[in-house]
Parts: sequence; C-alpha cells; structure tokens
Amino acid sequence: MPGETFDVAVVGGGIVGTATAMALLRRRPLALVVLEKERRLAAHQTGNNSGVIHSGLYYRPGSLKARNCTAGREALYAFCAERGIPVERCGKVVVATREEQLGVLEELRRRGEANGLSGLRRLGPEEIRELEPHAAGVAGLFVPQTGIVDYTLVTEAYAEEIGRRGGEVVLEAPVRQIVRDGDGLVLETGRGEVRCRFLVNCAGLHSDRVARMAGAETGVRIVPFRGEYYELVPERHALVRNLIYPVPDPEFPFLGVHFTRKIGGGVEAGPNAVLAFKREGYTRWSFSARDLLDALGSGGFWRMGRRYWRMGVGEYWRSWNKWAFVRALRALMPEITSADLAPGGAGVRAQALDPDGTLVDDFRIVEAERQIHVLNAPSPAATASIAIGEGIADLALKSFALA
Ligand SMILES: Cc1cc2nc3c(=O)[nH]c(=O)nc-3n(C[C@H](O)[C@H](O)[C@H](O)COP(=O)(O)OP(=O)(O)OC[C@H]3O[C@@H](n4cnc5c(N)ncnc54)[C@H](O)[C@@H]3O)c2cc1C
Repeated sequence: MPGETFDVAVVGGGIVGTATAMALLRRRPLALVVLEKERRLAAHQTGNNSGVIHSGLYYRPGSLKARNCTAGREALYAFCAERGIPVERCGKVVVATREEQLGVLEELRRRGEANGLSGLRRLGPEEIRELEPHAAGVAGLFVPQTGIVDYTLVTEAYAEEIGRRGGEVVLEAPVRQIVRDGDGLVLETGRGEVRCRFLVNCAGLHSDRVARMAGAETGVRIVPFRGEYYELVPERHALVRNLIYPVPDPEFPFLGVHFTRKIGGGVEAGPNAVLAFKREGYTRWSFSARDLLDALGSGGFWRMGRRYWRMGVGEYWRSWNKWAFVRALRALMPEITSADLAPGGAGVRAQALDPDGTLVDDFRIVEAERQIHVLNAPSPAATASIAIGEGIADLALKSFALA
C-alpha cells in the first residue's frame, strides 16, 4: 500500500466507512482504500453499540435520520439474510411510565407512521404485560420493525465485499497528516504515505480532527459521551423477552436507559450518557488532556454546558451510583434489584456540537474540495449504514465527477 495512488481513500473502518466504500465499489470499479487506525474493524462506536436495528420511530419526518433509517433498516435485514448473519426482527415495546409522557408517546406513534411504520400498536397496561410480563407502565407502543444484530459481523461482511470488488482495507493505518498535492491529497499514515484523488472522512470520534487535518474548517467539534451498561445476571435473563424502552426526553438526543436482548445472548441494561474525558475512553478513569482541552477550548462546549448541566449531573450520579441506575430501570421494571445487575461494557458516542452549543441532531455530511466529511453519524447510523453509504457514494460520484 505505501506509495500507492488511489481514486478514493476512506478514513475509518467503522460501519459507515465500510458501507460507503462498499457502495462506491458497487456503483463502479475504483482504486479504493479504507484506512483504519486500529488492529480490527469496528473497534469503536460500531463494535460497542447496543446492536439494535432501529425502526425509525423517533426521527423528524423528512430528516436524514428518518429517511436513511427506513431505507437502511430493510436493506440491512436483506443483507443479513443474504449473508447468513444472525438477525432477529423481534419488535420492541416503548413504555410510558407517567401520565405526562402520554403526549410524547402519541407523538412517537405519529412520527413512526409518518416515517412509514405499519403495524404500530398502542398498548394498555395489560397488553404491555402480555408482551413483556415484567414491565410496567400506564401505556405503551409496540413497534414490530425493531430488531437485533451484531454490527461487528455486519462491518466484517461489508469489508469482505469491498475486498471481493477489488478494494483494499488496511488496518493499523492511522491517518496523521493530510497534504494537498496538485490534483490530489497525500495522506501520511502509520504505514507510510498514501496518495488519493479524493477523500471520504468517516472517522467517527475523530471526524472533526480529520476534517481539520484536510484543511476543511467546518466549525463542528466532536464531544464524546460515554454510555455505560449493566448486564442482567444469567438467572434473571427471563425478565426481558426482547427490548423495553422508555419514552425519551424530547429535549435530549439520547434514548434513556432501556433493556436490550443481545443477538449473541444476554440482556443489557443502559446506557446512561456521561461526558467522557477521553474520546475513546471506555472507563470512568479514562482521561486525555488533549481531548479534554479540545472540548474546553470550544465556546460551543460552554454553551452546551449551560443548557444541559442539570441533566449532566443526573447522568454522572447514575454513573457512580448503582442504586440511582437501578432506580431509573425500576421505572420500567419495578421488580429489578441491584443484585440482578452485573457491570457490563461501555461505548462512546461521537456527538457533533455546533459553535452555538447545539448538539447536532441529524446526520451531517459536508463537502469540501475533493473531500466529503461525515461529521455527525450517531444512532441510528449503524441501522442506516447501507442507505448512508449509498447516499455518500452518490454524492461522491457527482461531486468528484467519478460517474
Ligand atoms: C453506546 C452506543 C450505543 C449505540 N446503539 C446503537 C444501536 O443500537 N443501533 C444503531 O443503529 N446505532 C447505535 N449506535 C450508533 C452507532 O454505533 C454509530 O452511529 C455508528 O457505529 C457510527 O459508525 P462510524 O463508522 O461513523 O463510527 P466508528 O464505528 O466509531 O468508526 C470510526 C472509525 O474511524 C477510525 N479512525 C478514527 N480516526 C482515524 C484516523 N485518523 N485514521 C484512521 N482511522 C481512524 C476509528 O478507529 C474507528 O474505527 C450506538 C452508539 C453507541 C456509542
């Protein structure tokens, strides 16, 4: 690879980078390389997520999230069936635990229907218990389209297709510097120099830095939010049949702590959403001076802090205090106790922040000369990956005049 020249270099071997590379190669033959800094694919957001195939219930109709989730979900089910990747369309129950949440629950149903979901079913307390015998609420919504999958397996299958179509996936190749050179770009990687005519940045938690490296000033800053999980102890797995979610707080971009059955076995409870002091910091003790200073140095960060500090304190409290976490889960399942939960894993979300302190809600994909930067690809980007990849591929073919 060192010294080679490619038509397109994709930075980032997560699900968005590999889906984009796969889509480009499906459109036309190209000299294409995916550069991933880790030893394996899907090492960050993709490999540490909840493994849910989202339905599209939550997203503003017409938004990129709504459009890509709907199209991507069905494409993903079909891809998994074709490749023999284990997947289950098990459905989920959204539970309103307080009367005040009924308006938001109804709004979710409206949004879901506007986003093309059929078969949504409003549930009373008894019907909730028929589907999830240990959950309790004043009302619920059953969403049949939701499913579960292992996104690392999906990413590996995308990479396999990239290889089959003549692309290269290179691991342990961190992109450290990007320099313009005539009609192209020179990428300085941990494995030597790579030349390309066009660049697609899918670097997740580092996407703002890769954009800056490439000379694109987008104003966006990535703020890392860690989501920590507990796991139900094996004797208590039967408490959860499939997926049980709360009604989300419309003011906050995360879904609230929920129960998720995993495709490989076991049940997760969580995640919370605490500000991480390191972009790839998976424990409470993870710390990076560079990452923290980067966040503190942005005006948007302080504006965000003023807006969300109350919520942030609550999330930290739940992070350090298992009892507080259990209490949040008890709203959905009154019989759960601290003894039912063992510590689980964690994932870090790359949340883009605008200079005015707004947490960017929708996917954000920005074009620059010879470059495309994916600056915000939060949940449901794994669900939507095939559709996002196709969208970026179309944009690239047009913008890079590769068609
Ligand atoms: C806790 C959690 C739960 C979630 N649950 C769900 C869910 O259930 N369903 C769903 O659809 N979505 C979920 N999501 C969201 C989903 O996981 C992400 O939207 C998706 O994985 C984003 O993929 P990505 O490829 O953009 O990022 P990533 O998977 O983070 O990939 C980016 C890659 O770029 C690499 N990279 C970074 N910088 C460089 C560099 N300089 N050089 C080379 N490589 C570089 C990184 O090593 C990384 O592998 C969840 C996310 C989290 C964190």
